[in-house]
Amino acid sequence: KRVDVPVSVHGIDPELVDKRASDVVHTLKQAGFEAYIVGGAVRDLLLGLRPKDFDVATNATPEQVKNLFRRAFIIGKRFRIVHVVYGRGREHEVIEVSTFRAYLDNSAAELVSGNEKTSKAQLASMQHAVDASGRVLRDNVWGPQDEDATRRDFTVNAMYYDPETQVVVDFHKGIEDAKKKVLRMIGDPATRYREDPVRIIRAVRFAAKLSQRGFKLDAKTAKPLVESEHLLNDVPQSRLFDEMLKLLQTGHAIASIEQLKALGLAKGIYPLLDVVVERADNPFVQAALADTDRRVGEGKTVAPSFLLACVLWQDVKTGWEQRMQRQHAFPALQDAIDDVFDKRIGDVSGRGKLAADMREIWVMQPRFEKRTGSTPHGMVAHLRFRAGFDFLRLRADVGEVEEQLADWWQKFQLADDARRDDMIEQAR
Ligand code: ATP
Ligand code: MG
Repeated sequence: KRVDVPVSVHGIDPELVDKRASDVVHTLKQAGFEAYIVGGAVRDLLLGLRPKDFDVATNATPEQVKNLFRRAFIIGKRFRIVHVVYGRGREHEVIEVSTFRAYLDNSAAELVSGNEKTSKAQLASMQHAVDASGRVLRDNVWGPQDEDATRRDFTVNAMYYDPETQVVVDFHKGIEDAKKKVLRMIGDPATRYREDPVRIIRAVRFAAKLSQRGFKLDAKTAKPLVESEHLLNDVPQSRLFDEMLKLLQTGHAIASIEQLKALGLAKGIYPLLDVVVERADNPFVQAALADTDRRVGEGKTVAPSFLLACVLWQDVKTGWEQRMQRQHAFPALQDAIDDVFDKRIGDVSGRGKLAADMREIWVMQPRFEKRTGSTPHGMVAHLRFRAGFDFLRLRADVGEVEEQLADWWQKFQLADDARRDDMIEQAR
């Protein structure tokens, strides 16, 4: 089933390949291992896009990989991969190297997790499988390359590229699907959604991302999506939260929401995502989504706190108004924010920092309207001023506050101290 596709057929431009990723492949091959660029990077290369990150797959174990590089770290207790790090600080780049993994169907995974039934050979190939669930073990059994391809999700995500020979290794007609512009699940889609329900969300994400390139979801891949959606109930909330952020923050938020609606998945993937979809036509939320897509498209960073603060702003405002009838403004706002977190965000990893950032954005909003004394000076010195100001700007864009107010703050932050005092004087 393995097909080696030459550059004359796939046409990948070697200029689009990251030098560090090629180096990693080269080093591994020099040491006698097999190594390829794999997954999403190959898909993007085939489409003529410059991949934003590169993954490498190899038959070397994590320890063997680590020993070949100066700065390499084995990460992940469960899904063990190696991060090979180049450069420092903001410029640093990470190439993720993973060992070829076996494809275990559900019965094989159960066999492996039922300890007494596990064969010696299976145990030997298992690396620190700390959890007894089939999922974890499934991900940690090393295997041959063809199985590594088969365990991946979509045919266009399951190809291997050797930057030296410029050959693409294709086990599942990924090249053909890329040419036909179809997004097709490897194997039986319903079974693959059962194995890992997060693939349902991934289908939506890639359908959205690739729709801009003319791709369509294969009919058989799309058909079991709705009937499989309930399987997401068994997925940990924090993983769903992360997947939701990927839908919203990888530059295709609006397209993803359209896909969710078109595929009949507008509700029920994750409560907070339901809220986003419901409010996607609300002008403020729509502006925030469009702004997020634009920023990612320009290569700028986006913070989940900003988008979620936009989505949940109406709950904060409503709760605040209600509480103001019996509380002072400041504690009323703080308590309204607490209510929103408990109701909408729940217990997700990184909640502490996320919550703190969102709270700061919201708390700044009423303070923007007080342009007296030393308050404005303190505001611009605030670490999160930029996020708060961007939020104010979006509110102004949709007419929630005066355009003038946002303009005033824009000028104020650029002014020197003397000019700032004048501005405060004039604002009174
Ligand atoms: P992106 O460009 O959005 O990062 P990607 O294809 O690189 O897309 P990743 O989530 O980075 O997606 O995963 C890398 C590769 O790992 C995928 O291309 C796919 O081959 C495989 N993969 C990731 N998650 C799954 C999954 N849940 N089931 C099967 N294969 C997966
Ligand atoms: Mg990736």
